[in-house]
Amino acid sequence: MQKQFEKKELKKKSDNLSDWYTDVILKAQLADYAPIKGCMVIRPYGFALWEGIQHYMDPLIKAHKVENAYFPLFIPEKFLNLEKEHVEGFAPHMAVVTFAGGEELKERLVVRPTSETIMYEMYKRWTQSYRDLPIRINQWNNIVRWEKRTYLFLRTSEFLWQEGHCAHNTHKESVSEVRWALDMYKETYQNLLALYGVAGVKSESEKFAGAKKTYTFEMLMPDGKALQGCTSHDLGQNFAKAFHWTVQDEKGQPLYPWQNSWGFSTRSIGGLIMAHGDDQGLIMPPNIAPIQVILIPIPGSSPKTIKYAIAQREALKKIGIRVKCDDKDGESAGFKFNKWEVRGVPIRLEIGDKEAEEGIVTAVARDTMQKKKVSIDEISGMLETIQQNLLETHKKFTLDHTHTVESYDHFKKIMAGERGFISAFWCEDASCETKIKAETKASNRCLPLDLPAGRQVPKEEKGTCVHCGKPATHRWLFAQAY
Ligand SMILES: [Zn+2]
Repeated sequence: MQKQFEKKELKKKSDNLSDWYTDVILKAQLADYAPIKGCMVIRPYGFALWEGIQHYMDPLIKAHKVENAYFPLFIPEKFLNLEKEHVEGFAPHMAVVTFAGGEELKERLVVRPTSETIMYEMYKRWTQSYRDLPIRINQWNNIVRWEKRTYLFLRTSEFLWQEGHCAHNTHKESVSEVRWALDMYKETYQNLLALYGVAGVKSESEKFAGAKKTYTFEMLMPDGKALQGCTSHDLGQNFAKAFHWTVQDEKGQPLYPWQNSWGFSTRSIGGLIMAHGDDQGLIMPPNIAPIQVILIPIPGSSPKTIKYAIAQREALKKIGIRVKCDDKDGESAGFKFNKWEVRGVPIRLEIGDKEAEEGIVTAVARDTMQKKKVSIDEISGMLETIQQNLLETHKKFTLDHTHTVESYDHFKKIMAGERGFISAFWCEDASCETKIKAETKASNRCLPLDLPAGRQVPKEEKGTCVHCGKPATHRWLFAQAY
């Protein structure tokens, strides 16, 4: 069992990102392959990351007056069939229950691929008047979208997420909430997961099935491919109309409620792993790290030193630091160092007789691997520095690999080489977008929305489409996507 932590066995990130990614997830015990095709088991260390995300995000959702609830896992297929685009989008990935309780079911039940339809059917029953709106509900649950190949955290048939679903009397209120969700996700990525990215709006062909508009947060991974971090959708009145859901407005006239939905999944953990780790293993941003400090008494230390180490652990606990002391017998110091490096613990504290005598600790920061003697009071500051450094490093990487491109030759050259984000004028014609993807593998990620406060639409510019040369008004972001 011990062998799996030996550093020499971990595949190198610098050799092959994809091989390293799977290897580090298995060796750090974040997750494992399930004995069901397309599925994974999230192990305790990996699940602690999801709990950390819930712990951070749930209060933000509640502060926005969105309440948590739970809806069934099974959705009558006829509900999904009500919204044509919606069912077309999800059909290829649907798992359907046709047999249960020892007999053929009269009604086919879809294992939820998303909950719009089952939730709106209930919203319709619960509301009569405009006074019953807004209705704001979130659920933390699991989702099934059938996949033939498993890519741990990034592509699995079942995954965990939160899905928020709100309905309003006006489009304006609904859209403002969609943008709020996008900002909340961005904040979570930056502050908690130390991941930089670009918030934007999806093109018509890349938007959610059944939505009027889809907003996204796109991040660049070390191999120059983009990861869609989350989405929030302005559903307009599409679903309300499909479900014949109306409430009476102020004048007693029927009003179709304006809806939105927004989701953030365990896929985010895939981005976290991929972006921050190195050849030695994971690097956990301190704010999300299940263990922020690992304290290792050097084997063979005196009982007095062990006592000192325990006192340091208690002092750290007292100031709210998530700390663990690894005093397991039968493992060398080097073995323990490797074990916790693979798991990406932000700070390692080494305590031997010398440290105990001097009343200090030897600290090693996981991101820089720099070693220094410090007092226990300095640990909080070190954690903050690591958090900031990781975000800054990812931001710099993203900006360094964002290319402003004027010609299609240049576009193709970048995609054939180091890849990255490509900012280019596009005519907004879907056929052009399809051709670009077929020829370069780069799909349209979004129209970036990093705008001054209050502005909803990016300013128009004068340009020509990078592919067909027709007039274009905005630079869109392209990249090969996960
Ligand atoms: Zn074009």
